[in-house]
Amino acid sequence: MLEVKEVSEKKIDENYRFRTFLKGHADEELLDKQFKELHNKYFKDMDCRKCRNCCKKLGISMSEEELKRICEHYNWNINEVKDKLEESYGEYVASPCPFLEEDNSCKIDECLPKSCKEYPYTNKEERLFSLLTVVNNSKVCPVVYQILEDLKEIYNFRSYR
Ligand code: SF4
Repeated sequence: MLEVKEVSEKKIDENYRFRTFLKGHADEELLDKQFKELHNKYFKDMDCRKCRNCCKKLGISMSEEELKRICEHYNWNINEVKDKLEESYGEYVASPCPFLEEDNSCKIDECLPKSCKEYPYTNKEERLFSLLTVVNNSKVCPVVYQILEDLKEIYNFRSYR
């Protein structure tokens, strides 16, 4: 597996320049298709249990309904769980994620909130308008990092540097 943080921070300026390049050169629909294909290609073989960078570096965010659903599912006392979280803009958050175990297993993997299920959003639509998030996630997620590297090849970005 890539040493994600080190490698991506070395390339972060380049990735921000690539974002500006894509804004000026990429077609919205084609870019979504390319993102989706690369997302499926890399997540097909990715074992997130060996990584967990997003849980460690970004943490967790969930709505009150999601929190209730998790507590009902595991038969937990909601107030005790709330003590591990902070409230921010109507969400319950914590970083690093308090549900990540030392062996990298996830205590709530049977009942994940939407933000965990959907991270890093590289198969979502309108990526052209979310490139700042994508670039920031390249510092965290090895798949996002690799997707950007592949897109640089596809768009022949190297000849612009
Ligand atoms: S950072 Fe990416 S590869 Fe690592 S666990 Fe999270 S989603 Fe999976």
